Amino acid sequence: MQRYPDGLWRELPEGEFQADNPNHSLFYEMQFAADDTSDQLNSFIESWYEFFRQIPRTIHHLNLRWWTDSNGRDIRRNPYCFSNKLALIHSEISEALEGDRKNLYDTHLPQFPMRDVELADALIRILDLAEAYNIDIAKATIEKLKYNRRREDHTAEHRATANGKKY
Ligand SMILES: [Mg+2]
Repeated sequence: MQRYPDGLWRELPEGEFQADNPNHSLFYEMQFAADDTSDQLNSFIESWYEFFRQIPRTIHHLNLRWWTDSNGRDIRRNPYCFSNKLALIHSEISEALEGDRKNLYDTHLPQFPMRDVELADALIRILDLAEAYNIDIAKATIEKLKYNRRREDHTAEHRATANGKKY
């Protein structure tokens, strides 16, 4: 895949893959088609697990200061802690929306569009939250990706039916 100037990712034409180009995804490198239905693709997705599980762990470790109050007590004692954290994720998504809507650049990382940085903020918060509550988000994500591959309601044929999902 390659990111084109309009911001969309598209499959590269045959023969143009460049291994040293960071815009060329591992997915392309593995040469799986987007509609591949093989078990081999499931195995590839499962192979992410050992690496993937380190990401929320590390992010949570880097942000442990978010998890204690001014007296040093664990904020998870509050039964509304989880929902408060979800609200903060909403907030980052809303900031991404405003950045996109107004075509803004980020104030902290001015080399990036604001929507890019706010999406990163949302991702950091999601992974941090999952780890804080011992949710194996790597496993859940991998299983959901595999499940989505075989969802009937996401096929082009089903979408074309009277009550199919339009988007
Ligand atoms: Mg933010």
